[in-house]
Amino acid sequence: MTLVPDAAPALRAPLVPAQQRTAAHPPAGPAGPAAGGRVAVVLGTRPEAIKLAEIIRRLGSEALVVHTGQHYDAAMWADVTAELGFGTEPLALGVGGTSRGAQLGAAVEALDAVFTVHRPAAVVVQGDTTAALAGALAGNARDLPVVHVEAGLRSFDRRMPEEHNRVLIDHLADLCCAPTATSVAHLRDEGIPADRILLTGNTVVESVLHLRPTPDRAREFLAGLGLTAGFLLLTVHRPENADDPAVLRTVLTEVRDAAAAAGLPVVFPAHPRTLHRLREDGLGELVAGLTVVPPQPPAEFLALEEAARLVVSDSGGVQEEVSVLKKRLVVVRRSTERPEVLGTFASLVPAGIGLAEEIRTALAEDPAALTALDSPYGDGSASRVIVERVRDLVGARR
Ligand code: UDP
Repeated sequence: MTLVPDAAPALRAPLVPAQQRTAAHPPAGPAGPAAGGRVAVVLGTRPEAIKLAEIIRRLGSEALVVHTGQHYDAAMWADVTAELGFGTEPLALGVGGTSRGAQLGAAVEALDAVFTVHRPAAVVVQGDTTAALAGALAGNARDLPVVHVEAGLRSFDRRMPEEHNRVLIDHLADLCCAPTATSVAHLRDEGIPADRILLTGNTVVESVLHLRPTPDRAREFLAGLGLTAGFLLLTVHRPENADDPAVLRTVLTEVRDAAAAAGLPVVFPAHPRTLHRLREDGLGELVAGLTVVPPQPPAEFLALEEAARLVVSDSGGVQEEVSVLKKRLVVVRRSTERPEVLGTFASLVPAGIGLAEEIRTALAEDPAALTALDSPYGDGSASRVIVERVRDLVGARR
């Protein structure tokens, strides 16, 4: 990844009064996008990279990929990009590890500097992260068309920062790419006009289809971890579960006990955030009997999902992936912005003593019943449709 030389000074630069603006701080607006400019694809976390990969591959040399640095771990990122095959080296802004507000401000300023130099013709963001909001704000401030991939998701849970980010990005975006009819309805209910909404499906479908390893490759990978199919796969990293030691203790105890009662081993790819909390809170003994592995590259993680008897997770993306892989998931969260999978592929339960019971219920169901169900997230054509519309938008501005 290339470190943007002009972004770091931009982070430290004081605000420049209008009359003293230089080429590095031109006023927004009149100059507008460069004719022939590339499409800036702004991301800051692993799930954004996974879900934007096919769009980036399709844009090819038209894509200017910018990583804000929101969640940046060199080893994890190297694994992710190697498998995703972006075909282009992202610009790295190195904005991370600070408070949400500081990160947002710094990322907007750094992106503004990038947009000044590269003069993209449009900005694409995905999902609900601080990086995505920064991309939408920076694009809007430069009068660039902003495209929001995975628009219209709502948990209606104002305790989640992501909920605020989603709403703000959707209202800033010139094109909201909504994955399902439910997300279209949310956007319409908030007064977003129909001509700014496109029903596309979710790009996660093509990501899974592209990354999913062959059965032989998956078996080989599992054998390398000393695993065979038929285990409980656990991921837990959201603040509501990881940040309160009592809650994290409950989640791990409930999962451990329910899995032990069913005779299932637990495989736990531990997010750096959760590992940190386990160490800090002295909860290490709770995972002593689990197979704890580092965060896995995307294809390897899909192999784990596919081989699992049951998945227990608080992840957003995993809720969608199980519908493509036809697996059963227990979502450990207070709320979800992905209701489309509830009652079929997934059930929702908050961290607490109901979790073990929910795991028992899910394990009692017939896993084969899921194989005939379609994913509510579409047929894998979302990225193609989105890239076509992005090119139309850019063309219309020239
Ligand atoms: N994932 C991965 N390796 C792991 C755990 C998850 O590649 O060890 C992938 C997973 O397949 C999904 C995405 O990361 O595509 C979900 O990311 P995460 O749970 O961090 O974020 P969320 O989706 O909740 O925003």
